[in-house]
Amino acid sequence: MAADADWKWQLANRITTAGQLGEYIDLTDEEILGIEAASERFHWAVTPYYAGLMDRHSRTCPIRLQAVPSALELRDDHGIADPLTENENSPVALIIHVYPDRVAFMIGNRCPVYCRHCLRKETMVGKPDVNFSEEKIREGLDYIRAHPRIRDVLLTGGDPLLFPDERLDEILSSVRAIPTVEVVRIGTRAPVTLPQRITPELCGILARHHPLYINTQFNHPAEITPEAGRACAMLADTGIPLGNQSVLLRGINDDVQVMRGLCTGLMRIRVRPYYYYQCQNLTGTSHFRTAIERGVEIQESLQGHISGLAVPKYVLDTPYGKVPLAASYVIGREDDEVVVRTWNGRTWREHNPL
Ligand SMILES: *Cc1c(COP(=O)(O)O)cnc(C)c1O
Ligand code: SF4
Repeated sequence: MAADADWKWQLANRITTAGQLGEYIDLTDEEILGIEAASERFHWAVTPYYAGLMDRHSRTCPIRLQAVPSALELRDDHGIADPLTENENSPVALIIHVYPDRVAFMIGNRCPVYCRHCLRKETMVGKPDVNFSEEKIREGLDYIRAHPRIRDVLLTGGDPLLFPDERLDEILSSVRAIPTVEVVRIGTRAPVTLPQRITPELCGILARHHPLYINTQFNHPAEITPEAGRACAMLADTGIPLGNQSVLLRGINDDVQVMRGLCTGLMRIRVRPYYYYQCQNLTGTSHFRTAIERGVEIQESLQGHISGLAVPKYVLDTPYGKVPLAASYVIGREDDEVVVRTWNGRTWREHNPL
């Protein structure tokens, strides 16, 4: 096995300085200054694999924009540190409980690559000061045990797949041992930023904890590489249904052709597009945000134009839960008929019993 095919090598050799990044891409002096300034405030690291996907010359490369710190993150942008008031929805340290029957359980705060648009970049992800102790994980498990209405536990963070195999197995076993938990989900970007993490050994462990679902985060078709495809095939062959949650990012995927390419490309690697999120009003991310109207337009350009299985829901996350943002196809009501418009601009009248 080549060294770079080993996930531990990828992690140990992550790029954390402008000098190292200069071996992969051409950087202007301005970009170097931006990296140095922004990385003092927000954590950054890029796996050699993900850096290898960057276009050496293009400053608008979608991989580069997602992973390389920029001075734009330091703009006074009226963003807030914790737009979902996750701290208020957190009954114990690592649990976010918004919906009656499911919780997010943030078991770690490390990621292979620190996304510049990360929702938790200000509150926890990559922050050394947050305490992710064994004790906090036990408290989270106790909370789930004490709330039998919780039947769906979403392991997130940070990236749960950065735990060593044995520890991940222990955590999954502890969650599984709670009789009221029916479904376990893992949110991980490893298939995108560290596909080497998906090993036969890992799949062997995951297979013991069904029903297990994995949601990942591909944001651009350039991320759908042979390596990522292989990682997803291994997970799918393990019997894990795979979903994708993108973030709508200006200059990266707020484009009809890019989004269609992403969604149909994901279907080819057996990943079902699930959500794309409106980019939150979060400190240091204003340069990524697009108008919600644009997001709705993109939704309409997918619906009907590509396979229904490939069309994700466009959602806005709020402190009270996710809100689907979709244009209505019902355009009127007349007597006992409802008038609808179709994906290709026709209208149709359907008898509607009163
Ligand atoms: C997104 C989220 C979930 C899962 O929501 P689904 O719509 O079921 O995928 C659960 N809890 C929290 C706090 C969330 O943000
Ligand atoms: S993988 Fe997720 S949690 Fe980690 S930095 Fe990216 S967006 Fe944040």
